[in-house]
Amino acid sequence: MITRRRAFLQENIIIAASKTPLTWQQQLSMAIRDPQVLCDRLGLSSQWLAGAQTGHALFDVCVPDAYLNRIAYADLNDPLLRQVLPVDKEALTPPGYVADPLEESGHQPAKGLIHKYANRVLLIASPTCAINCRYCFRRHFPYSDNAPSRAQWQEALDYLRADTSIHEAILSGGDPLAANDRQLAWLVDQLEGIPHIKRLRVHTRLPVVIPDRVDDALLAWLSNTRLQKVIVLHINHANEIDQAVIDACTRLKQTGVTLLNQSVLLRGVNDNVTTLATLSERLFEAGILPYYLHVLDPVQGAAHFDVADSEAKELIAELRDHLPGFLMPRLVREIPGKGSKTPL
Ligand SMILES: *Cc1c(COP(=O)(O)O)cnc(C)c1O
Ligand code: SF4
Repeated sequence: MITRRRAFLQENIIIAASKTPLTWQQQLSMAIRDPQVLCDRLGLSSQWLAGAQTGHALFDVCVPDAYLNRIAYADLNDPLLRQVLPVDKEALTPPGYVADPLEESGHQPAKGLIHKYANRVLLIASPTCAINCRYCFRRHFPYSDNAPSRAQWQEALDYLRADTSIHEAILSGGDPLAANDRQLAWLVDQLEGIPHIKRLRVHTRLPVVIPDRVDDALLAWLSNTRLQKVIVLHINHANEIDQAVIDACTRLKQTGVTLLNQSVLLRGVNDNVTTLATLSERLFEAGILPYYLHVLDPVQGAAHFDVADSEAKELIAELRDHLPGFLMPRLVREIPGKGSKTPL
């Protein structure tokens, strides 16, 4: 009875969907969170399901339709699919791959605040993401301990008020844009009240995963802040940039924001020169400048994505022959204890 009712409700949602465009919140709540559904929707044979269940048990699957629609049907090598399909290799435990590769837990002066680098701090503005990337270095992050309420933000804000050397607040997560705009507008308003904070940076994948996230409510608080704004998107492959993403970037740029991109170098996704060159070209067409190309952080469950440093350096050297300097991402690794990302 319950199942039938649920099927009926779902059918109604689908009917409603065909009439009015879904909000980003609706799209997010309807994201695929079941490996079976993911395999069915993409025409992947049942032989992949067991592995997908194994990976899913370690880190939940989450793929919204807006992203799924950019994945080719029945193609196990699709570079977007590889970022989101759980596989059995995630259960491997090779030496050196750990739960907290960046040792962030030792740099939290207040709940939701990470202060590792001079002049800038990370604020964990949302515990969740709109997509679960299999290579994510925060796949084991204790988010339930790091989702501050308004009252709890006060401790982090007091820390920022007291340290006049901090000029930049970086909203991170999870994905900070998974938080609602009322909450974000409040937080940005608090940051604006701190005179020595000049810049607001937002590290997000949401405008790429669900381009409708860039709606009027988001544009309103972005347009109204006195802070200088930088949005660092996270795109690993040119196929992630469709027309909807380009339109979302155009709306963001109209608020005066600087758009940058960071990628992760991933085996089987973007580990060749042509793919990286095409990504940089496509980013620029969308009004985004390449910023970082990160080598993989050694997080447990993601070893199958690793590209050796020596190979990464060769790729970057070759990439230089294909791109103007301003389209070259900086190849970096994050080494715990260092005062900045380390160039390779
Ligand atoms: C990456 C990172 C930053 C930002 O570093 P930039 O080199 O300025 O992009 C800040 N804080 C933490 C903890 C980081 O991991
Ligand atoms: S969006 Fe970013 S934080 Fe979220 S799962 Fe993907 S890589 Fe990790």
